[in-house]
Amino acid sequence: MSVNSYVVGFPRIGEQRELKKVLESFWAKDCSFDDVKKVASDLKKRHWKYQKDAGIEFISSNDFSLYDNVLDTCILLNAIPKRFKNLKNEELYFSMARGNDSTVAMEMTKWFNTNYHYIVPELSLEDEYKLNATKIVEEYKEAKELGIKTKINIIGPITFLALSKRVDRGDTFELLNKILPIYEELLKELEKLDDEIFVQFDEPTFVKDNDSKILSLIKPAYDRLCEVSKNIKVVVTTYFEHSIEATKVLVNTPVWGIGLDFLYGEENIQALEDISKSNKKLIAGIVDGRNIWKNDIQTSLEKLSNISKTIDKDNLIVSSSCSLLHTPFTLKYEEKLQDEIKDWLSYSCEKLEEINLISKIFFNGVDNLKEKELLDLEKNIKSNFERKHSNLIHDENVQKRINVINSFENFSRDGSFQERIKLQKEILKYKDLATTTIGSFPQTPEVRKSRRDFKNATISKEQYLKDMKNYIDECIAFQEDCDLEVLVHGEPERNDMVEYFGEQLKGFAFSQNGWVQSYGSRCVKPPFIFGDISRPKAMTVDWITYAQSKTKKIMKGMLTGPVTILNWSFVRDDIPRSEISKQIAIAISDEIDDLQKAGIKIIQVDEAAFKEGYPLRNEKIKDYENWAVRDFKIAVSSAKKETQIHTHMCYSEFNDIIKTIEDMDADVISIETARSGNELLKIFKKVGYKQEVGPGVYDIHSPRVPSVEEMKTQIKLLLKVLPKEQLWINPDCGLKTRKWKETKQSLLNMVEAVKQIRAEY
Ligand code: GLN
Ligand code: ZN
Repeated sequence: MSVNSYVVGFPRIGEQRELKKVLESFWAKDCSFDDVKKVASDLKKRHWKYQKDAGIEFISSNDFSLYDNVLDTCILLNAIPKRFKNLKNEELYFSMARGNDSTVAMEMTKWFNTNYHYIVPELSLEDEYKLNATKIVEEYKEAKELGIKTKINIIGPITFLALSKRVDRGDTFELLNKILPIYEELLKELEKLDDEIFVQFDEPTFVKDNDSKILSLIKPAYDRLCEVSKNIKVVVTTYFEHSIEATKVLVNTPVWGIGLDFLYGEENIQALEDISKSNKKLIAGIVDGRNIWKNDIQTSLEKLSNISKTIDKDNLIVSSSCSLLHTPFTLKYEEKLQDEIKDWLSYSCEKLEEINLISKIFFNGVDNLKEKELLDLEKNIKSNFERKHSNLIHDENVQKRINVINSFENFSRDGSFQERIKLQKEILKYKDLATTTIGSFPQTPEVRKSRRDFKNATISKEQYLKDMKNYIDECIAFQEDCDLEVLVHGEPERNDMVEYFGEQLKGFAFSQNGWVQSYGSRCVKPPFIFGDISRPKAMTVDWITYAQSKTKKIMKGMLTGPVTILNWSFVRDDIPRSEISKQIAIAISDEIDDLQKAGIKIIQVDEAAFKEGYPLRNEKIKDYENWAVRDFKIAVSSAKKETQIHTHMCYSEFNDIIKTIEDMDADVISIETARSGNELLKIFKKVGYKQEVGPGVYDIHSPRVPSVEEMKTQIKLLLKVLPKEQLWINPDCGLKTRKWKETKQSLLNMVEAVKQIRAEY
C-alpha cells in the first residue's frame, strides 16, 4: 500500500538547542570545530530517524545548516564577497555570517513574512561562480548510510537571485545565466549518487506578485535543469502564499512535482486544473508548518478529497505546508503547560505523525488503520472538538466588548490632530526638538537576575520590587542629570516587550521549550494566543506612577501595540487575525485609560512589528492596513485630547506605508533614521505628514558613542527637511542591549547637541 507523505524541511537547532550551544561555545573558543561537526552530525541523524520512524516517505537532506541555507547556497555557488576572499572553510563561513575583527558581516533580513532571517547574498558581475557540492553530497551520503534515501533540498536559482543584492548596481536576475550552469553541474554530480534522485528546489519567491519578466525566467531555467538527467526528479516548492502564476508555467516544464501551500495559499486550488492536465505530482501542503496547533485531521481529509476531485490520487502527496523550521521541536519537554492547552498543540515531531496518519487514511482508508492509529485518530477528533468548545477559549465578556466596538463606525480619538497638539503643547510645555528615549535602558546582569529569581520564587516580592524601584530611581536620576526632557522608567521589569504583556493578559500561554530559530544560533520563544483576550487588571500603572512620583518632569507611559503583540506570537487559527488584534486593542485601550486617570500625560504605544505583518500579495495589503490601523486607533481611542500618544517603529523603509502610518494618527512617531541621514524623513515631507516625528539621531545597534558634532550634523540634516516645531530628538530604538557607560555618554552628547542647535536656530 502506498503512503505518500512528504516533509518540506525539518528544524535543525536541536530539541535542546544543542546546535546553538555548541556554536556559541565554538565562537567563544571553548570548543573545537570538530565538536561542532559532531553535534551537527548527531542532530542530523536524530532528525532523519524521527522522520523515518514516523513513516515519512520524502525526508530531506541539505535542510540542515550550521547558520543559514541561503548562506550555504552562496558557498555552493562560490558567491563570496571580495572582502572574505582570503578566508577558508569554517572561518570563511562564519565570517560571512557574523563578520570578524576586520570585516563586516553580510546583511541579514527576514525570510518572507516569517521571523526567520537569512543572509543576503552580495553578487556582482565580476563574480566567478564555481561549484562546491561538498555539503550536499556529504549530507546525502550520511543519510544513506542510515538507510534513508533523501530528497535533496536546494534553494532554487530564481529565489536565490530574488533574495540577493547586486553590489555593483544592476539587476540580480541578469546573473541567471551565470549561475544556472553551476546548478546544472551540481545536478550532474548528484546524478552519480543513486539510480533515482529527488531534488526539491525551494522557490518561495514565486508566491509574490512577480512581473512578467521574472515569470518568463521560470520555463527556460527549469527546462534546462530538468534536462540534465533522466534520473533526477525535480520538485519545485513554494509556500506562505499561492503561486498560481508560476504553477501555470511549471506545468509546461519537465518538472516531476509541484509543492503548494494549501493553508496560507488556499487560492492554489485555482491551479489544480492545470496540474491535473500536466499529470504532474502535486505535493499538497496541508499540515501547518508555521503554527503550533494540532491538525484537524477531518478537515484535512476533506481538503484532500476536494483536491482529488481534480488531481488523480496517484499523483497526490501529503505534506507540511512549508519547512517545519518555523515550529518548535517536540512537546516532550513541555511539563508546565496546562494539560487542556497542551492537548491542543502539535510541534514538529507531532506534525510528522499527523502527516503520516492523514496520508494513511487518505490513501488506504480508515478501515486499514492499525489499532494504535485508530486511537490516534479518535484522540485527534476529540482534541479538536474540545478545543472548539472549551470555555478557556470563549469569553462572553470579551464578545460583548467586541460587539459594542463593532457598532462604532469611527475609531478616531476626540479632536483633530491640530486641536490636540495645541492643547498638548500648552499643558506639556516641551520645547522644539524635545529630547526623549524609546523606553528601555540597559538591562544589567543584576536586573535580569532579580527578575529571574523572582520568577523562580528564590527572592521575595518585596526584594524584587525594591530591586526594580532602585533601577528606576537610578534611571530617572541619570535622565535628570543628563537634562533629557521627556523621561521613561527604563523597563527593568520587562524581559521582552511582548512577553511582558502576554503574561498579564488572559488568553495567552507560555511554553518551556517552544524555541524556533530566528537567525544563526539565535532562537525565540513566542507566546501562544489560545483564547479570547482580556486584561484582568492594570499592567503598567504601578510602575509608571511610581516613576512619575520620582520626578517633576513628564514621565512617558510605555505599552506595546496590538499589531506587534499579534505578530510576535503564535496565534489561534480558529478566528481571523484581525479579530485577535481587535481584542488586544481593547485591552490596551483600558490600560491607556487607567494610565491617564493616574495622571500620566504621555503614553507611547510601540508598533515595532507593524511592518512585518504585511501580506506577501499586494491584493491583500489594503485589508491588512485597514484592520491594523483600526486596531491601533481602537487601542488609543481612550486617550483624551490632552493625552499625547506616541508610537515607535524601528525600520528604515517607509516608502510604501507612509500614508498608512499617518492614518494611525499618533501625535508623535519615533523612527529609526540614524543610518540613512535624512533620506527617510524626506518621505514624511513628501506626503505632507502632519504629526510630529522623532527621527533617531544615533544607531543603538553598536556600542560606538557618537560625538556631539556628529549628532549636530545629523540634526541639521533633519532640519533641512522638517521644521523644528515638528521634530523630536531621540535614539533609533530602545537601549536595553547597550551598556550603561556608552549609553550615558551617547545621551549626554545627544542632549548637548540639541542645546547647541537650539542656540543656533
Ligand atoms: N519600548 C521598547 C524598548 O525601548 C521598544 C523596543 C523596539 O522597538 N523593538 O525597548
Ligand atoms: Zn525600536
